[in-house]
Amino acid sequence: MLQKILIANRGEIADRIIRSCKQLGIDTVAVYSQADKDSLHVHLADEAVCIGKTSATESYLNMENIISAAINTGAEAIHPGFGFLSENAKFAELCESCDITFIGPSAVVIEKMGDKSMAKKLMKEAGVPLVPGSAEEVTLEEGQKLAKKIGCPLLIKASAGGGGRGMRIVRSLDQFEKAFYSAKQEAKAAFGNDGVYIEKLIENPKHVEVQILADKYKNIIHLGERDCSIQRRNQKVIEEAPAMISDKLRDKMYKAAIKAAEYVSYENAGTVEFVVKDDEFFFIEMNTRIQVEHPVSEMISGVDIIKEQIRIASGEEMQLKQDSIHFSGHAIEVRLNAENPKKNFQPSPGRVELLHIPQGLGIRFDSMLYTDYEIPPYYDSMIGKLIVHGKDRLDAIRNLRAALEELIIEGIDTNQYFLMMILMQDVFVKGDIDTSFIEKYIERLLDYEA
Ligand code: ADP
Repeated sequence: MLQKILIANRGEIADRIIRSCKQLGIDTVAVYSQADKDSLHVHLADEAVCIGKTSATESYLNMENIISAAINTGAEAIHPGFGFLSENAKFAELCESCDITFIGPSAVVIEKMGDKSMAKKLMKEAGVPLVPGSAEEVTLEEGQKLAKKIGCPLLIKASAGGGGRGMRIVRSLDQFEKAFYSAKQEAKAAFGNDGVYIEKLIENPKHVEVQILADKYKNIIHLGERDCSIQRRNQKVIEEAPAMISDKLRDKMYKAAIKAAEYVSYENAGTVEFVVKDDEFFFIEMNTRIQVEHPVSEMISGVDIIKEQIRIASGEEMQLKQDSIHFSGHAIEVRLNAENPKKNFQPSPGRVELLHIPQGLGIRFDSMLYTDYEIPPYYDSMIGKLIVHGKDRLDAIRNLRAALEELIIEGIDTNQYFLMMILMQDVFVKGDIDTSFIEKYIERLLDYEA
């Protein structure tokens, strides 16, 4: 088993990883930017190393400084969390060449699956159902030709995409050229890569993804699925497990996800993402890292995914077997952001003047907040996740409403009431959800007194 791990991340995910390391008796090294010296992860870890200035490019994305911190503190492994360097094949390769274990798949697999158009090509070969479209990057002419063939509406998507950026909807062919160049420009600015591909737009689908775990002895299991259809601008807001889909479809999706992992000789934790419409499912991408929404799978399966990632990276054979995993009840997660929904979701950093965390059976609060913590304005606005478990979906919704009502965060604006408004809608309770939910009901969802 690994003895010392450096966590190349910040915020709630860094705290979350440190907790699992402590429970396994593993020493931890935190890294932090100058703006994060008072962050919880710096205090929770056994050691902490400043890796640079405030901007992410000079700190959390600074590969050389992070590797040096690992070497200087004697850390044998690096957990990248999510975001930052978690899907950066170059970083995984750098770790490998410095004899540091990267907790995730190999650089080769990250490279294959990280490029979304390349991943689609591989998944086609593996026989996983794809959204109709180009399996590879296209030029304007190729795109236009294919667009004529598959028809509108369609999506232009960035190969290096993430967080819904570099994506454009085309509703009529005469808009294609403009949308093509605008997607390319956004992709170039966000990811330094302007490659794009096209896909049929599946109107108002559900987003359903399968969590998998694989070790180097070719054992692959799934930990069930998550429904992440409650999204704003293609970014997830609420996630739950299990999804409201038929058992037949669920079973097909598990098989496809395992086939996907098998085909690329996947190792460690990963997520295979699909859009679902009318009992049909289509692969959209694979994330080769831990996901923000992993706690809902942990709540219904009882498996600590971070601990499994560490055991797998240590070279151990997975003790978990598919038939020893039993799912129980329903779990829902809401993402709490420091933002003001009524002011177009404008970020609201600042000092947390008072914090009260809800208590009770089946409530989990993954967050980096503490009273008097000053949320810096430089990074993501997510300040935590509130996750609850219930015996069934309705029970989980009720528990989550009660927990959200009890939660107190003073001093900054948050999306707490907005999340509550989602949970209060009859259509949500009925489970009548797809990715258009927030856009469709936005007026109602913003109709609260703050
Ligand atoms: P990113 O990596 O930027 O998050 P994804 O490919 O994961 O991009 O897609 C993000 C979201 O965009 C999905 O969850 C879904 O809501 C929507 N989406 C992506 N592809 C399609 C599609 N072909 N049809 C309809 N919606 C899609």
